[in-house]
Amino acid sequence: MITSQPDATGHFGPYGGRFVPEVLMTPLDELERAYLEARRDPAFQAELADLLKNFAGRPTPLYYAKRLTEQLGGAKIYIKREDLLHTGAHKINNCLGQALLSRKMGKKRIIAETGAGQHGVASATVCALFGLECIVYMGEEDMRRQRLNVFRMRLLGAKVVAVTNGSRTLKDAVSEALRDWVTNVHSTYYLLGSALGPHPYPVMVRDFHRVIGEETRAEFLKREGRLPDSIFCCVGGGSNAIGMFHSFIGDENVKLIGVEAGGRSEKLGDHAARFSGGSPGALQGAYSYVLQDSDGQISLTHSISAGLDYALVGPEHAWLHDRHRAEYVACSDMKALAAAQRLARTEGIIPALESAHAVAEAIERAPEEPGKLFIVNLSGRGDKDTDIYRENLPELDDPI
Ligand SMILES: *Cc1c(COP(=O)(O)O)cnc(C)c1O
Repeated sequence: MITSQPDATGHFGPYGGRFVPEVLMTPLDELERAYLEARRDPAFQAELADLLKNFAGRPTPLYYAKRLTEQLGGAKIYIKREDLLHTGAHKINNCLGQALLSRKMGKKRIIAETGAGQHGVASATVCALFGLECIVYMGEEDMRRQRLNVFRMRLLGAKVVAVTNGSRTLKDAVSEALRDWVTNVHSTYYLLGSALGPHPYPVMVRDFHRVIGEETRAEFLKREGRLPDSIFCCVGGGSNAIGMFHSFIGDENVKLIGVEAGGRSEKLGDHAARFSGGSPGALQGAYSYVLQDSDGQISLTHSISAGLDYALVGPEHAWLHDRHRAEYVACSDMKALAAAQRLARTEGIIPALESAHAVAEAIERAPEEPGKLFIVNLSGRGDKDTDIYRENLPELDDPI
């Protein structure tokens, strides 16, 4: 049976590890120790379970998409509704877990990075909940594109620091957050937003999202009396996907399909499809598949969905890919947009653009697979993407 656990140094096969400055080795050891303790501590787990239920809104529904299924005339499609969680996406699962951990470690100053602002908003939310200081690093370009989320973070009491280096986007924000951590490591907890970065973050973030797959598996067995045939998740850093996949890795008849951002073309710089367009390399703490040029320079990325727009994929996905336990495909900006519109009109659910990538792949495969059972993880809701939908669907935006 295929299982998926890192070794003692945080390696999933050749991937993962700790590519960080020496001064961060001890803090990462301390974090790992605190995390392993918390994982065994029934009081910690009970408090987290209570917050997930009563603050975040778990368990999320597993919804049978009847009209979409009938329209496609093939596989039966279920949707896991992570979009119904507080703050609008799965990210709150991880933020609640790490905020509890920072409190346990006695750290009252929290730093986080954000691209589109979803992780920044979830971080600001849990910091308000626990009375912690919150500083969010965000690229200047992303702040301009995501003004509403900047405002939401400030409304929640967080300080948003504009990052003006490099391309002024997520990668630069992560670098600034790491720099802050190196300087203020004794007082500060770094709340990282995906299954990325140096060990123990990839395994810890995955564990905080495992509840997605655990709920789905139990509920699906109750409803269908068997396991699904295929599960579709979008993959940015890979946290919603690995949280969903983990409960099914040992079930080799369940196909696990990760959908990356195919962007506007297959040219380097026009997408964020690390598996089809990248190769192994290190970025910001971890070794995994990364988009780089022939000199090893990290390339720019593009996606219509900011949450999938990052040059590196989480290391556990790289390992699942190499062992052929999960399959990774890319979906273009245009296909994701079309899938979002279709889901909105057939099911009354406007998805986040990230999640629309997973929906698109399920829509493409369903007609070919009658009798099969599909699950799509709907990682977030589309409210945050209203401006991008408006820009791309001008025919719906006539004021009269
Ligand atoms: C951030 C985000 C993602 C991408 O992050 P993962 O770590 O790959 O899950 C996907 N969907 C939504 C709605 C997001 O906000």
